[in-house]
Amino acid sequence: GVKVGVLALQGDVAEHVAAFREALAERPGSSVMAVRRPADLADLDALAIPGGESTTISRLIEKNGLYEPLVRFEGGIFATCAGMVLTADRVDDPRVRTLGLIPMHVARNAFGRQVDSREAMLEVAGLAEPFRAVFIRAPVATDVGSSVEVLARIPEGIVAVRHGRHMAFAFHPELGGDLRLHRMFLEGLGL
Ligand code: GLN
Repeated sequence: GVKVGVLALQGDVAEHVAAFREALAERPGSSVMAVRRPADLADLDALAIPGGESTTISRLIEKNGLYEPLVRFEGGIFATCAGMVLTADRVDDPRVRTLGLIPMHVARNAFGRQVDSREAMLEVAGLAEPFRAVFIRAPVATDVGSSVEVLARIPEGIVAVRHGRHMAFAFHPELGGDLRLHRMFLEGLGL
């Protein structure tokens, strides 16, 4: 079975758990569990880092002794929104200590206050049909390293990337019941 963890410090943890449970429903012996301390990372094939408030999640990562264990985590990471901010190597906010897992620069709240949330039918590389993307006070990547595969962009910037075993999204594939990106992620890990 496939073992997926969801970093459960703050944010839309339950939605990530539900989405991965559904994505793995036909895989006997699979499990999806909450991750709050370093020992919870043992034996996981993958970890979701949810959307929420990246400054808060960053503070709780430090408090729970998870910074180094997350940097050393050998599975794939599926990061959304605040999670995308955390996986970057640079962000425009000194309160967030990024994990540096994906060589990209990220701007928080890139849409401005007036239009802080929106939906878009997004062309995503590797998907045959557009993906209905929900953006909520979303970040964008402004600059990515040459090893980063850009999967989707909008006028404000890059909103979906793959880097080796990791994927990061400025929007929320865990909402809305479309699990094509979860499946793409699991396939990319050979799971
Ligand atoms: N603006 C939030 C942050 O940068 C992310 C919002 C979200 O995850 N929906 O932490």
